Amino acid sequence: MLNKNVIDAHVHLDAYKKAERQIIIDEMEKFDVDHMISVSSNLASAIINLSLTRKNSRVKAAFGFHPEQPLPKGQELEALFLFIERFHDEMVAVGEIGLPYFRMQENKNMDLDPYIEMLEEFIIIAKRYNKPIVLHVIREHTPIVCSLLEKHSIEKAHFHWFKGNEKEIEYLLENNYFISITPDVLYDAETKKLVKEYPLTRMMVETDGPWQYKESFQHTKTHPKLIHQSISEISSIKGITVENVYEQLYQNTINFYGL
Ligand SMILES: [Zn+2]
Repeated sequence: MLNKNVIDAHVHLDAYKKAERQIIIDEMEKFDVDHMISVSSNLASAIINLSLTRKNSRVKAAFGFHPEQPLPKGQELEALFLFIERFHDEMVAVGEIGLPYFRMQENKNMDLDPYIEMLEEFIIIAKRYNKPIVLHVIREHTPIVCSLLEKHSIEKAHFHWFKGNEKEIEYLLENNYFISITPDVLYDAETKKLVKEYPLTRMMVETDGPWQYKESFQHTKTHPKLIHQSISEISSIKGITVENVYEQLYQNTINFYGL
């Protein structure tokens, strides 16, 4: 029998409305969703994710500060670091962290240095607790982040929804870093190309929910069940049986996050 179990390797459960979130959690079994890695955007979001993982052990929490927002003010970052120190054994990873690519598209003169410094502090925390890192890193920010990861000898890095050219992809491959594929693989040519080139042994699947997808998904609320469509597309792009794609992606995620 085909084992169709999946893991959503990157979702923002805290960002869903309470009722929607409950439906997703209640429907996990129905849609063969074994686990979800719910990443945090800031301290408030980390507090919600902690309570979610305590209520349902199939939800796994990561704690971090999303880079596509203004830098934390006053004592917020310190408070988040203290929170992580206190609850580190209830998190499976540090994230979502990274660099503000889209904010910089709108403001080219933005100072990246404080974001790089913050990212390095989180990398040091991940190293201290021996946890994997969940990254939001896009295109030309790739070499900056890879050199930081190398500086701290980080082996477990997950570049979620990665976008980059051949050279930038090469940085990830050299270090055996992981990527994850979103449902946009159904319609985005660049994602299809990435799936073709990147080894299945270094791949996971995610929704980044509640992010709203386009094309055939434009009227569908983002739900981990969409991952089944991503997997069938990955199977056809790579010419690997659906069965093997399910199995490999599942094992990759279990091993990477130590589930
Ligand atoms: Zn995200």
